[in-house]
Amino acid sequence: MDTSQPSHAPSDPDTPMDPVPLSGGTQTAPAPTADYDAVLDTAAGVARRWLDGVFSRPIPATHDIDQVKAAIGRELPPHGLEAESVIEQLAAAVEPGLMASQSGRFFGWVMGGTYPVALAADWLVSAWDQNAGMRDATPGVIAAEELAGEWLLQLLGLPGSSDVGFVTGATAANFVGLAAGRQHVLEQAGWDVNRDGLSGAPRIRLIAGAERHGAVDLAARYLGLGEATLVPADAHGRISIAGLARALGEGSGPTIVCLQAGNIHSGAFDDFAAASALCRAACAWQHVDGAFGLWAGAAPGLRHLTAGYELADSWATDAHKTLNVPYDCGVAIVARPTALHTAFGVHASYLLAPAAGADPFEKVPEMSRRARGVPLLATLRWLGRDGVEELVTGLAQNASRLAEELAALPGVSILNDVVFTQVCMAMPDDEATTALGERLLAEGRVLASPSHWHDRAVLRFSVSNWATDADEVRTTVDAVRAALPPR
Ligand SMILES: *Cc1c(COP(=O)(O)O)cnc(C)c1O
Repeated sequence: MDTSQPSHAPSDPDTPMDPVPLSGGTQTAPAPTADYDAVLDTAAGVARRWLDGVFSRPIPATHDIDQVKAAIGRELPPHGLEAESVIEQLAAAVEPGLMASQSGRFFGWVMGGTYPVALAADWLVSAWDQNAGMRDATPGVIAAEELAGEWLLQLLGLPGSSDVGFVTGATAANFVGLAAGRQHVLEQAGWDVNRDGLSGAPRIRLIAGAERHGAVDLAARYLGLGEATLVPADAHGRISIAGLARALGEGSGPTIVCLQAGNIHSGAFDDFAAASALCRAACAWQHVDGAFGLWAGAAPGLRHLTAGYELADSWATDAHKTLNVPYDCGVAIVARPTALHTAFGVHASYLLAPAAGADPFEKVPEMSRRARGVPLLATLRWLGRDGVEELVTGLAQNASRLAEELAALPGVSILNDVVFTQVCMAMPDDEATTALGERLLAEGRVLASPSHWHDRAVLRFSVSNWATDADEVRTTVDAVRAALPPR
């Protein structure tokens, strides 16, 4: 059957449909389900083949961008192609250019894999094709997202009165938290930023740790906050509390302090309780970037790391990292919903009036968006509270095990205290570390990120994948051992 053109005629007359009668008694036209069937079956088959191989294949991509473009075909086709062939050809061309980030030996950046249930729910989100911006229009997905938000607050022990917005990732979630902060601190200073903009506004002091993530700088840039005043970091990469007190004491006026739950190199957490006391005394808005680390708050054995973070005003996290939900799912949490809604709310006649509560589009920069909170709900539902605890605890345990076993290899040192999921290893000199990283990548069993930390070249292992277990840790250590310089 030719499925290249959408058709509203029943594609298979032998399969009668049961159309839902409209209230006027009119029958709707039979749905073109057969147009979807063949191409979805093709896609499901392609996805299964990918997933069958992804846990055992070499991790890095084998084709570069040019090769993939050539394989796709560089010219816009003059005529359309059949849908199933489009999907099959797409996969054949693109897959050699993919990295096996779902593998249990993938430790690159801070990424994580994808739980089966999360992937399945993500497929449903696309099939449902709901615009998740308005409560009254798409109550099904809004209900799921609102529950996901409530459950998340309970899991993390954050104030239940906080509002939750779903965004693409922690970059956008940091933007949302800082935007609410900007709104709030300027309002406290008697300035209406929505009406009067930033020109002539009291200057906002943004204070952050020297080892903040670059996403915080980006968010500040989008918000016209300029560069943050940087407070030195301690040996673990945490914001110095004495330094924060000094920075806060050096000025006055509207102030936002950005703290971190989970340093990408060390995994370290700022001292939230101490920082929070200082922020309160200075009437500063306190934001926490917890892209992957906020999840430590869901595990009783790790909760000491996040102690006091519940006193902050806003938090940013990702579900696509530690929780192993597919890209993309970021979460912005704001303890002062009015500041959030003032920053993002829009009231236009063509938008439905909310019956109760703010509409999702009043919490994030997007008006229209996919229901990316649904895979989060499905994953929390599938794991349950104890499953989330087990996941997060297990990632940290595997990181400790990996660090211990790597440290026993000749020439290898672990530079960080492994308190959470991040392991930073180095060889005696930078050249040896870089060369080790290159050999490891070429061999393909393991992917770790080359980086620099505290003036040294390092290889960074981020244990963020549910598929990493004791066996994968062992294989990883074997691969590193095999890649060590010959002695
Ligand atoms: C990954 C990360 C970010 C950025 O998150 P995205 O999901 O890539 O937008 C911000 N902060 C920290 C600490 C991160 O690890």
